[in-house]
This record gives sequence, structure tokens and C-alpha cells, in this order.
Amino acid sequence: LFAGEVTFLKGVVAMDGLPPADRPEVCFAGRSNVGKSSLINALTGRKGLARASNTPGRTQEINFFELGTSHYLVDLPGYGFAEAPKPVVEKWQRLLKAYLAGRPSLRRAFVLIDARHGAKAVDEEIMKLLDGAAVPFQAVLTKADKTRGRELEASLDKTRKVLATHPAAFPEIALTSSEKGEGLATLRAAIAAL
Ligand code: GDP
Repeated sequence: LFAGEVTFLKGVVAMDGLPPADRPEVCFAGRSNVGKSSLINALTGRKGLARASNTPGRTQEINFFELGTSHYLVDLPGYGFAEAPKPVVEKWQRLLKAYLAGRPSLRRAFVLIDARHGAKAVDEEIMKLLDGAAVPFQAVLTKADKTRGRELEASLDKTRKVLATHPAAFPEIALTSSEKGEGLATLRAAIAAL
């Protein structure tokens, strides 16, 4: 699936801009700076594919990428910018909610969480939306190369406890490093299997 061509299709700002739900898709969500662009670039082997376009106040778009002709990979805007203007945040949340609830071809969401910290309150907001929309999701701990040992165990524990309270969550936690390539093959295989 990832061996073929990966191309940017479009950025969507309203529900009527969504491409037809004619193939399976997966989406990636995470707070700004969690390493989402780096992970999408590493997974697809395309360096400049996903840009870190998470500047507060900028247009919040749902970015669609084509994996060959068979799947979509969807990059949701980074969240957690407290300083973003309220109307911007609210518009984005409405779009996000509508997208998650009304997208039958959305097979799985990946919720990215910093491996050094584990799941936080801001991550639980998106998890609640996913629960509400009945979108199965998997937690992905990013930047795994930056932590190990007890610190990593603690954030895994914390994340496991949070996931246990969310009905749409898979219990398994993926561990990735875009820098070192760790966990990428497993994640690619999981997406291809959908
Ligand atoms: P985004 O805002 O979620 O798209 O985050 P970016 O992908 O732009 O990454 C934010 C910062 O974390 C950048 O400085 C990246 O170089 C760094 N980063 C991302 N992934 C990794 C990783 O796997 N390991 C390390 N050490 N740094 C990473």
C-alpha cells in the first residue's frame, strides 16, 4: 500500500468539500507538535508531504492524501492551541465532529501522543469525540527515541489507564519514532490490513 504513489489530494474546510467516501480511509489526530507531520512523512517515505501547518489562527484544514488508488490517509489539524481565537476553535470542532460522525469509510483513527508524557486531558477530548462517533481508534506514542525505561513505562501505564475508559479505543498502544524508523512497519501493516 505504501510502496505505490502517495499524493496530496486536497485540504477540506467544510463538509461539502469532502471527497466521495468511496474507499477505506484512516485519520491521524494529535496535539500540535506531537510529531504528526513527521510520522506521516516517515510512513509514506515522502519528506515534504505533510507540512507542520499548525500555526494558531491559520485555516484549519482536513488534509486528504491518496495512498495509491485504494485508500485515503487523512491528516486532521493539530489541536491544543489555547491561544487560537475561540471562533476558529469552535468552527474547527464542528467540522471535526461532523467529519468523524458522518464518514462511513473512516476505518480507524490514530491518536498521537508524546511518548514522554502519555495521554493528557487534551488527548481525551479527541478520544471522547471518537467514542461519540463510534470511530475505533488506536493510540500511537510518538518520539519513542526520546524516552525509555521507567519514564516510558510510566507514560505507557498512564495511557493504558486512559484508554481503558474509552469504549472506542483499542487496548494496544503503538510505539513509533519517525527519527529512528521504529514502529513504522507495524503501523503500515495495520493500515494496509484495513
Ligand atoms: P506536528 O506539529 O505534530 O506535525 O509535529 P512535527 O512533525 O512538526 O514535529 C514536531 C517536532 O518534533 C519537530 O521538531 C520534529 O523534528 C520533532 N519530532 C517529530 N518526530 C520525532 C521523532 O520521532 N523523534 C524525535 N526525536 N523528534 C521528533
